[in-house]
Amino acid sequence: MGETVVVVGAGVIGLTAALLLSRDKPNTVTVVAKHMPGDYDVEYASPFAGANVLPMATKEDSKWETVTWKEMKRLCEQVPEAGIHFQKCQIFRRRKDASALPAGIFDPNPWFREIFEDYRDLRQDEVPEGYDSASEYSSVCINTAIYLQWLVGQLLKNGAVLKRGVLSHIKEARGLSHTGKPATIIVNSTGLGALKLEDVQDTKMRPARGQVVLVRNEVPMFVTSGNDDDENADLCYAMTRAAGGGSILGGTYDIGNWESQPDLNIANRIMDRIVKKYPEIAGGKGVGGLSVIRHAVGLRPYREGGARIEEEKLDSDTWIIHNYGHAGWGYQGSYGCAEDVVQLVQKVQRIKHGDKAKL
Ligand SMILES: Cc1cc2nc3c(=O)[nH]c(=O)nc-3n(C[C@H](O)[C@H](O)[C@H](O)COP(=O)(O)OP(=O)(O)OC[C@H]3O[C@@H](n4cnc5c(N)ncnc54)[C@H](O)[C@@H]3O)c2cc1C
Repeated sequence: MGETVVVVGAGVIGLTAALLLSRDKPNTVTVVAKHMPGDYDVEYASPFAGANVLPMATKEDSKWETVTWKEMKRLCEQVPEAGIHFQKCQIFRRRKDASALPAGIFDPNPWFREIFEDYRDLRQDEVPEGYDSASEYSSVCINTAIYLQWLVGQLLKNGAVLKRGVLSHIKEARGLSHTGKPATIIVNSTGLGALKLEDVQDTKMRPARGQVVLVRNEVPMFVTSGNDDDENADLCYAMTRAAGGGSILGGTYDIGNWESQPDLNIANRIMDRIVKKYPEIAGGKGVGGLSVIRHAVGLRPYREGGARIEEEKLDSDTWIIHNYGHAGWGYQGSYGCAEDVVQLVQKVQRIKHGDKAKL
């Protein structure tokens, strides 16, 4: 039997979960959100992402990124209108940064060398001065403005309905299905919003502020393990989006910082670091050779201890599936987490049928 599903949240996490649930035809799917693709608001992280696939998880948590990579690669190869292209990604490491780093990305022998067919360590004579080791592989870069709209298009094709709504409680979603029936499954994909919903109030949620500069210049895709500017929240990375989406120069990862406005000192540091590393991207003219489209800030939905993906019973007919808190890996984990949502719906169905069998 199909479920009456209401997904709250239209970021990459909610839209991808809605997509997989809408493929299961007996389900009816309604997506309700304060922000939709096309909006730019600091409360809505998805449009601001690079977005590339640069695994961050440890081996123990690698299943979401492993599953998602297969689908991202397929979309890149077979679905050009999704707005994703391949770009070679280089990872540069310094030994002195080792203790401060997240376990996944900068491991010199990472679990993800298995999932990228052409992953290789650079020879010592290829490693640029200032770094101790480096690796490269073919990643993808997603044009988020195209990809989020593409997800919406797929949902509409599957008969899903999208509408605006601002909820103060997640349980309000029970009455928001376009079918007029009460929802039997509510998917909570509200990202940072999970902190504010009165019946969720997940205090493990915090913003991880990301400031970036979007430019017209083409750039290589890379990330470094650290830099010498001595600002703890500063990162150094870049990538060029598919299909004329411009290039992202990054950035920051500042946990607990809610500031929505770009800081021009930070922007100057970001641009200066990247242009010093790759002077040719700006025609040798320094920062002045960059053609800036805009400065931007997005708040990644960071959750202490990791994402929350689990079911919760609201009443005898309605269950909530929580799927939020993906910090800086929402795109690259989106399909793996959406598959978990589908499996949790199946688990709920087994519990419900078990309950009925006992009556
Ligand atoms: C600068 C930057 C760079 C990044 N780079 C990458 C990258 O390269 N690769 C990668 O995989 N990830 C990257 N990320 C992370 C990625 O963007 C996030 O993990 C992802 O966007 C989270 O998606 P989400 O759907 O959970 O949240 P969001 O996109 O924030 O969406 C939340 C949704 O919930 C809705 N909502 C919230 N509260 C309510 C409410 N009360 N009522 C109704 N609706 C509500 C919002 O309106 C919105 O529709 C980056 C992020 C940033 C900021």
